[in-house]
Amino acid sequence: MTHTPTIPDEDVAPAVANLETIVSLSKRRGFIFPSSEIYGGINAVWDYGPLGVELKNNVKRAWWRTMVQLRDDIVGLDAGILMAPQVWVTSGHVAEFSDPLVECLTDHRRFRVDELPGAEDLSPSELLDPTVVERLGLKCPVDGGPLSPPRRFNLMLKTFLGPVENDAAVAYLRPETAQGIYVNFRNVRETSRKKIPFGIAQIGKAFRNEISPGNFVFRMREFEQMEMQYFVRPETAAGHFEEWLARRRDWYEAWGVAGGRLRTREHRPDELAHYAKKAVDVEYRFPFGWKELEGVHNRGDWDLGRHQEASGQNLEYFDPATEEHFIPWIVETSAGADRATFTFLIDAYREEEVRGETRVSLALHPELAPYKVAVLPLLKKRPEIVELCQRLVADLRRDTMAVYDDTASIGKLYRRQDEIGTPWCVTVDVESLEDGAVTVRDRDSMTQERIPLEGVKVAILDRLAAARP
Ligand code: ATP
Repeated sequence: MTHTPTIPDEDVAPAVANLETIVSLSKRRGFIFPSSEIYGGINAVWDYGPLGVELKNNVKRAWWRTMVQLRDDIVGLDAGILMAPQVWVTSGHVAEFSDPLVECLTDHRRFRVDELPGAEDLSPSELLDPTVVERLGLKCPVDGGPLSPPRRFNLMLKTFLGPVENDAAVAYLRPETAQGIYVNFRNVRETSRKKIPFGIAQIGKAFRNEISPGNFVFRMREFEQMEMQYFVRPETAAGHFEEWLARRRDWYEAWGVAGGRLRTREHRPDELAHYAKKAVDVEYRFPFGWKELEGVHNRGDWDLGRHQEASGQNLEYFDPATEEHFIPWIVETSAGADRATFTFLIDAYREEEVRGETRVSLALHPELAPYKVAVLPLLKKRPEIVELCQRLVADLRRDTMAVYDDTASIGKLYRRQDEIGTPWCVTVDVESLEDGAVTVRDRDSMTQERIPLEGVKVAILDRLAAARP
C-alpha cells in the first residue's frame, strides 16, 4: 500500500506563498514572538503576544465547544503534566518514543533521518537500518560531510521530582495528553456515569525534544494538544473511526479553512505506531507542503489493556445491556492547538489592491478573531465623540473583546483592524452626536451601514451567534 492522499501534492497552491509573510505579520502585530528574545531566543519555543493569546484561546474554545459543549457523550478533563513515571513505561514511550537520528561527523549537527533529502519515504525499519546512510549515499545537508549510522533518539524531556537528583526521582514532561485520559478512565466513567460509546476530551501542554524543529510554530518543543479519546465496543471501532475522521476534517472547514487546502492521508502499515490499528492524518497545504494537522487513530484495546496489566487495576467496562465485561477500544482524535492556530492564521491571510494600495486583511472566522469589534472616533479632537466612543466600548467589553483606537486617521485605523482580523469597526462621527447613529463597517466586504447607537451591541452579538457552527 502507498500513501493515499485525497488530493495530489502539486495541485493546490498554499494560501500564502512565503511563510515569512506570516512570521513578520505575527511579530509586527503581536501574535507570536520568539521566546526569550532578549537573550537571543531558545530554539523551538514561541510566545503568544496580546493578539496571539486571544486567537489561540478562541481556537481552543471552538474545539471545546464542538467536542464537549455541544455533545452529550463527551466530558472534559485536565490532568497534570507530570505523571507517575511508570505510565510512560507502560505506554511504550520510554522504549519506543524516538526518532532515528544521524550526526554529521564534521560539524556535529544532528538530523532526523526521514528529513534528509532522499530518505523522506523510507519506512520506520529502513530509517533505523545501520547501512541506510551508505546505501543511499546520504550526506549532511549543511556541509555535505559524512553522517553516522542512525540511532534512536528518545523525544521525552526529563526532570527530577523532589530534592534528590537520582534515577529514582526521574519524571517526564508528558509528550502527549492522551495518557492522562487513559489513567483517569475509571474515575471519569464512574463519576460521569457515561455509557459506551463516550469520550473524554482534554487540552493541555505537551513537550517533545524534537531533533529538527522548525517552520515557525509548526514543530515546537513545548506545545499544546487538543485530544479526545472515544471509548467504544470493539466491533464498532471501525465505524466510529470513519465518523470521527470526517467530523474532524469538517471542523477546520467550519471554522474557516478552505476545503481545497485540506486532505486526508492514511498511514501505510509500515508507518503505523506500535499501538495503532489504523491512522489517518488530516493534512493542510502549508507554504512548505502538505503536513499533518491532526491524527485520527484506532488504538484498539492497547492503552487500557496495557494499563490494566501494569497497574493490576480492573479497567474493564461492564455493559449492562449485554452483561459483558470487556476492555473498550479507543478512537482518538489528536490535534495541535498551535498548529491549528497557525493554520487559521495562514488560511485567513488576504492581500488585495484597493484604490492603488495593497490591503492586507485576515478573514478569520469572527469567533476566532482576537477582537470582535473596534470603536473608532472620526475626530478625536471632539471630546463628545471620544466620550461616546468610550461609553460604547466599555459597554461592548462586558460581553465581548472590543478595542478603542484613535492614534491615526480613520483610513489607517481601518487598515490596522483589517490586518489583525477584526470583523467589525464602529465609527462615531459628528453626525452621531445629533442622530444617535454610528457607522458599522464590515471587514470582508468593506460595506458600511448606519445603525442606531443603542442597537450596536445586539447587532454585533447577533452576528457572532449567527456565524457560530
Ligand atoms: P510528527 O510525525 O509530525 O512528529 P506526530 O505524528 O508525532 O507528528 P502526534 O503524536 O500524532 O504527531 O501528535 C498529534 C498532534 O499534535 C499533531 O497532529 C500536531 O498537531 C501536534 N504536534 C505534535 N508534535 C508537535 C510539535 N512538535 N509542535 C507542535 N505541534 C505538534
